[in-house]
Amino acid sequence: MKKRILDLQPYKPGKSPEDIKREYNIDKVIKLASNENPYGCSPHVETTVLSSLHDTATYPDGYATELRKKVSDHLHVDENQLLFGSGLDEVIQIISRVLLCEGDNIITANETFPQYKHHAIIEGAQVREIPLDNGSFDLDGMFQAIDDRTKIVWICNPNNPSGTYLNEETLVRFLEKVPPEIVVVLDEAYYEYVTADDYPNSIPLLAHFNHLIVLRTFSKAYGLAAFRIGYAVGNAQLIEKINIARLPFNTSTFAQQAALAALEDQDFVKECVRKNAECLRDFQQTLQRLNVEYYPSQANFIFVRMASPMELFNFFLKKGYIVRPFPNGVRITIGTKEQNKEVLAALEDYVKGHVFN
Ligand SMILES: *Cc1c(COP(=O)(O)O)cnc(C)c1O
Repeated sequence: MKKRILDLQPYKPGKSPEDIKREYNIDKVIKLASNENPYGCSPHVETTVLSSLHDTATYPDGYATELRKKVSDHLHVDENQLLFGSGLDEVIQIISRVLLCEGDNIITANETFPQYKHHAIIEGAQVREIPLDNGSFDLDGMFQAIDDRTKIVWICNPNNPSGTYLNEETLVRFLEKVPPEIVVVLDEAYYEYVTADDYPNSIPLLAHFNHLIVLRTFSKAYGLAAFRIGYAVGNAQLIEKINIARLPFNTSTFAQQAALAALEDQDFVKECVRKNAECLRDFQQTLQRLNVEYYPSQANFIFVRMASPMELFNFFLKKGYIVRPFPNGVRITIGTKEQNKEVLAALEDYVKGHVFN
């Protein structure tokens, strides 16, 4: 066995709403811990997937032909620039598996999506975690950490868990400096939610930077987390090599159908994004009024900074809200308008309780 595996922990899912209901004897629990879409997915997804349920005995289309065509039209890229995975989780695994050898290194931030590090360790690569600078990726620090064994730079934009983003100018300056043999992976899992004008328009950048790979998923704004489907977009030659490590039937017929239907209903996504932006604005205004520190977010979650995050986590839990604790705060998924109101009222109770105790 690879000895380094013993240093790692398997992914530990948070407590389920059912666990919490039993434990605290409450009947309403809202999970705001995994940045799932509180509005579900487009209604077209259900009809489309149900109509393909008769076809269970045949293997899925390993090339995801129909979906590939649709996504390539949607993004204005060539079909051979795409690689589909069973969620971005799998895409991250495949990229790591292909690009990393023992003794190589990756560069990323210290508080970001944990799978970049996890797979680097499995492949025997060293992980250089550059501290976030006020919640944002420190690209200068990351550039300085590059050496001749660096193979991948992982950037999450907007970043999970901080919700902050890098603008196009900052990103382009970085891409221009990074040597072309080092792959820069831009994880845009929350791309659809961003409202900032200077957020990078990353797909056109692929024409200028052959070492750039952009990741997108159907799990967040499209509301298809249960189906497991996401993709990478990059230079065709690079994608072709990475594709070698992909399992032949890694995305199911139903996931492909669901993604197709979801992509066709852009109005649904737009509406989710609009509601999210509204709730996010209310959330940030309340935090300002209560004098609670947070990172300004462009995603469907917000990182509230707290000296004792477990205390706030447990406070929320008793009230039936599952949020995600981190060493320096909690990450709260933006729910529906009604959920948001309730969560903000609870947060206000918590903060006021602290002032007067
Ligand atoms: C949720 C998330 C993913 C994984 O998404 P799946 O497509 O569901 O595997 C990847 N990166 C980031 C930053 C995420 O937050």
